[in-house]
Amino acid sequence: MSSLLCGLIGTGIGASLTPSLHMTEGAHHGLDYEYRILDLAELGLGVDDLPELFERVRGAGCRGLNITHPCKQRVIELLDELSPEAARLGAVNTVLFEGDRAIGHNTDWSGFRRSLDRGLPDARFEQVVQLGAGGAGAAVGYATLDRGARELTLVDADPGRAGELAETLGTHFPDRRLSVAAPDRLAQVLEHADGLVHATPMGMAEHPGMALPAELLRADLWVAEVVYRPVETELVRTARASGARTLTGAGMAVYQAADAFEIFTGIAPDADRMATHMDALLSREAMAAK
Ligand code: NAD
Repeated sequence: MSSLLCGLIGTGIGASLTPSLHMTEGAHHGLDYEYRILDLAELGLGVDDLPELFERVRGAGCRGLNITHPCKQRVIELLDELSPEAARLGAVNTVLFEGDRAIGHNTDWSGFRRSLDRGLPDARFEQVVQLGAGGAGAAVGYATLDRGARELTLVDADPGRAGELAETLGTHFPDRRLSVAAPDRLAQVLEHADGLVHATPMGMAEHPGMALPAELLRADLWVAEVVYRPVETELVRTARASGARTLTGAGMAVYQAADAFEIFTGIAPDADRMATHMDALLSREAMAAK
């Protein structure tokens, strides 16, 4: 048995499912794998304490870290090297300690990309509309363009955020059409769209409801959700009822963990097994909430 220590740094992450995903998969590979939660709020720390915590963790022999809100940008100054995608996205959710070097990766985008491939393998990607241009929006927008979207229209309650993201993504995918639309033009831009990517917090327990009117959903539109707790968001339920093909946010969550597992361990995980485990964790959570 080899011993491995990894962890997750962020705020409000006490109930994260990531430790279970990593350690259960690790056990299948015979690893003595400990994955710890380091919740800044619970530790009485703020983002400014990240450098000290980061060094403490590295000193304790940690092999790798996942990084989440609010540290995905702040961690970059502590790293020696970035993967090309992490550099392009300006966000890191996975850090590998290799010798005395800390290398930053972004598996949010690759997790969503993999989820699109697995869940919507033959969907059309000519015109895609994306609601939400925040942190998750940057990763899924990048993945959607990487998947081959010809035209991506970004819609956000904060038009400045949508504009900035369109500009950044446009520099990485210069042969695509990036545009921005105000939320009151959603009906218009969705009319000819093949798919809708949803990346706002609407649908989470703390933000119930949907970010768009139900009548805009239709059978020939695929809908990819980013929110995964709960896994059956109002958007997923309503889209499914309208006949649309849907992808829940669980895929992105599990495949980002699978990609991070491979970076930490050098072992290709069984992503389907991890997805089955995630489904079990999420259904247990849904039952408990009833
Ligand atoms: P964020 O705050 O960085 O960005 C959210 C964006 O949505 C903001 O720009 C905001 O202006 C916009 N917005 C909010 N309500 C809106 C509305 N009704 N209409 C239009 N725009 C609206 O948040 P984030 O980090 O991007 O996270 C968004 C969601 O993604 C969260 O619910 C989070 O749980 C989820 N997420 C899921 C995964 C996964 O693995 N499945 C990973 C990361 C984040």
